[in-house]
Amino acid sequence: MNCPRCDSPKTRVMTKSPVGDVWEVYVCDVCAYSWRSTEDPKVWPTFKLKPEQIPNLDVIPAIAPLDPDVSV
Ligand SMILES: [Zn+2]
Repeated sequence: MNCPRCDSPKTRVMTKSPVGDVWEVYVCDVCAYSWRSTEDPKVWPTFKLKPEQIPNLDVIPAIAPLDPDVSV
């Protein structure tokens, strides 16, 4: 199955329901999007990612510089 966000075929089962084999969670190895088998995820075109965008994304939001007037 392809990733709903980046359309990559590099997806895998991340985990399964602990009881009853009721659901699975899938994850995309390209963009880290995850979704449950009980969902039918639809990603709006605005939020789709292209493979060339992924290396340039911020992993963690930038941290603002410390306020010099506040002591820690
Ligand atoms: Zn993806």
